Amino acid sequence: MRFESPMASLRESVPFLSFIPTSRYARRERSPRDNDFMFGNPHEMPLPGYVASLARSAVPQDKDWFAYKMNERLPTETIARALSSHTGLDWSPDDVFLTTGGFAAIAASVRAIAGPGDEVVFLSPPWFFYELLIRAAGATPVRVPLEAPAFDLPHDAIARALTPRTRAVLINSPHNPTGRVYDARALQELARLLDARSQREDRPIFLLSDEAYRRIVFDGRRAPSPAEHYARTIVLYSYGKQLLAPGQRIGYAAVPPAMPEREALREALTLAIWASGYVFPNALLQHALPEIESQCVDISAIARRRDRMVPGLEAMGLQVVRPEGTFYVLVRAPDGDEARLVDRLADRDTYVLPGSIVELPGWVRISLTANDAMVERGLAAFASVVG
Ligand code: PMP
Repeated sequence: MRFESPMASLRESVPFLSFIPTSRYARRERSPRDNDFMFGNPHEMPLPGYVASLARSAVPQDKDWFAYKMNERLPTETIARALSSHTGLDWSPDDVFLTTGGFAAIAASVRAIAGPGDEVVFLSPPWFFYELLIRAAGATPVRVPLEAPAFDLPHDAIARALTPRTRAVLINSPHNPTGRVYDARALQELARLLDARSQREDRPIFLLSDEAYRRIVFDGRRAPSPAEHYARTIVLYSYGKQLLAPGQRIGYAAVPPAMPEREALREALTLAIWASGYVFPNALLQHALPEIESQCVDISAIARRRDRMVPGLEAMGLQVVRPEGTFYVLVRAPDGDEARLVDRLADRDTYVLPGSIVELPGWVRISLTANDAMVERGLAAFASVVG
């Protein structure tokens, strides 16, 4: 008897999932000497203020404390205020849709606007799961490459990728894995392009704006939201990065006040959250949200590690992309031989993400969520490998 799950056809969309179980990283004997630059996971104790907020939120104040929670008022009002102060627009709590992290915000938003026959454009190198989530919604992913080493927003290539079937363009700024932050001019130009195309085809093209790293920016920068320039933007957010607590799942999708399809999206996003399996955040995190909204990891510590890592690696003759935001540093492998670099680093208990997993062969990605000791030992490991 044969059985093939409908999920089997999605396997190819996620090299991440086949890589992880077979990697030396997964098979390593865990030791405090490991230099773990693999993912944006914490390597230090959580923020004490965050822990205190969770503890307070765990104490019931009424009988409904742990009842079913949906889009609760206190967290959505808090988020609408935070978005208003960030963007200068007047966001409504009725247009904030709470989800279990950015992951579910992306999944539900794609489902809310695109289905079979629709195309969703995304930029490569991408986050691991964009293609999976687009395909899972029944829509067709269309990949547009970013060009190394600048990785600027590729307006012309996006314009060429748009067709009468395009339903959305998905962008991510600050961008994982390049660390690029797109400025207002780049976003304005994209807005003009999408406006013109929506008009011409008489069919709205939405801009899905993955802003998971919005607060992880360096050198006094601000990451502008595309929503400031394009009314058909859906903002997608995760608190996993700013709190460096990705196992605590809370985030949202939010629609700006001038969105022409605002009413339709209220219904569509709500239905998509239910249809994705009631992916509202847990009650405890919803209670904590008004306190945790403004809490954030020490960005200066991440910037300090960047400022140690980038010149340190450059001094070894390596090509490095200096991030403007996010947790990540891209390094080009000598002679583009990524597998050799990954392997020789693993011999020295140093683990980096192979670029092929994010459609960027020849490069590796380093996560700056490693602690300072790992950064020092990691630099020594690089030196002994490439020196
Ligand atoms: N988008 C990007 C660009 C990410 O890097 C991540 C997390 N790695 C997410 C979305 C999803 O965030 P979360 O896991 O907190 O839902």
